[in-house]
Amino acid sequence: MTMKVLKFGGTSVGSPERMRNVSKLITDGDKKIVVLSAMSGTTNNLVEIADYYKKGNTDAASNLIGALEKKYAEVIEGLLTTQTYRNKASSIIACECNVIRSYANKPFSIQVEKIILARGEIMSTNLVQLYHEENKIQSTLLDSLEFMYVDADGEPVMPKIEEKLAKVLKQYPDEKLFIAQGFICRNDKDEVDNLKRGGSDYSASLIGAAINADVVEIWTDIDGIHNNDPRIVKNTHPIAEMSFDEAAELAYFGAKILHPSTVLPAKVKNIPVLLKNTMEPNAKGTVISNKATNTGIKAIAAKDGLTAIKIKSGRMLLAYGFLRRVFEIFEKYKTPIDLITTSEVAVSLTIDKTDYLAQIVDELKALGTVEIDKDQTIICIVGNMIAEEQGHAVEVLKALKEISVRMICYGGSDHNISVLIDTKNKEKALIALNNNLF
Ligand code: ASP
Ligand code: MG
Repeated sequence: MTMKVLKFGGTSVGSPERMRNVSKLITDGDKKIVVLSAMSGTTNNLVEIADYYKKGNTDAASNLIGALEKKYAEVIEGLLTTQTYRNKASSIIACECNVIRSYANKPFSIQVEKIILARGEIMSTNLVQLYHEENKIQSTLLDSLEFMYVDADGEPVMPKIEEKLAKVLKQYPDEKLFIAQGFICRNDKDEVDNLKRGGSDYSASLIGAAINADVVEIWTDIDGIHNNDPRIVKNTHPIAEMSFDEAAELAYFGAKILHPSTVLPAKVKNIPVLLKNTMEPNAKGTVISNKATNTGIKAIAAKDGLTAIKIKSGRMLLAYGFLRRVFEIFEKYKTPIDLITTSEVAVSLTIDKTDYLAQIVDELKALGTVEIDKDQTIICIVGNMIAEEQGHAVEVLKALKEISVRMICYGGSDHNISVLIDTKNKEKALIALNNNLF
């Protein structure tokens, strides 16, 4: 039998009322796995608690845990009506909070942080499951730690996920509604780990790919991918259809709506990804699939926090192997490169992860003169821009005529023109592009 995967984000389960609303949306009788995030704000709180432990401030951590427990006590009051179920829920929350407390006087490690961060999704899924039990709605709560696995590099191990999840599901042949935690997983050492911030979307598409779902639906608080950043530009509109490639570029380069890795597992298995709005379930949202879509520019997104690095060297002139030596340094420090442009004597590139910037720069200096620019923003213009069609690049550059452009990337794929600008010019650039392109 075919199955769907639906994922609801933090705001979609952010209050008792929202949880009840999610429950309504998922109890239509279709067979499905529902992936939930932690309630909005919780993961941030857990990060903060872990940070206090790291700094040895157990008092502040303890206060914050107390506040979290109090917040959940209110959620329980609002969500559940009988004393029996309220007690059940309180003891689950107390148990999770005690797990966090148990690390107060132990040495801090990344592993401790991961265990603490995992509590958010465990609490939200348990609450929704208890709500179902109290209201005699049939559903089964799964433990994502039994089947979600990543390797030593944090990459999902698909065959293992498929095998483990199939085994779990086999135990419930008649169940129609499963609830599972997003975000959390185990690593190669079987320790509790996670798929990084915002990773619940990724959980959903990995689960969808593992069970060959009909569709992966990502339910958030906006009605699909918009053609520009609605926080900055007025009158944006949702895009009805996008290809996997277009969505992947857009998700990576800044559209906050989707975790950037989400598209890939779905694309590999050709499973459409539907973006829906929990607050407006009847809005069409965005369908991401491999269906050919219209040509032309569809959307603009911006990604902040980039660092540009320019390596200039006379030795690059007419030489081979220069770029390899540059790339090897980034590879050594596991630092992905986003954009790259080259001239005959220089190469400019951008990175997002700056943990090893000092070491990278140090090694690059052996190859040439190195210049760094921080606070850079990639503006990514996405669409179906096959090279045979004229005018797209011109339109983009014309729109940006009053903005200093640090890099331009065009031709890497048929779906993207990216420009790098100073973050301080972002708003101006997004508005100018919006006025000229749509
Ligand atoms: N709760 C996690 C976070 O806030 C994962 C997610 O919601 O996607 O990052
Ligand atoms: Mg998210």
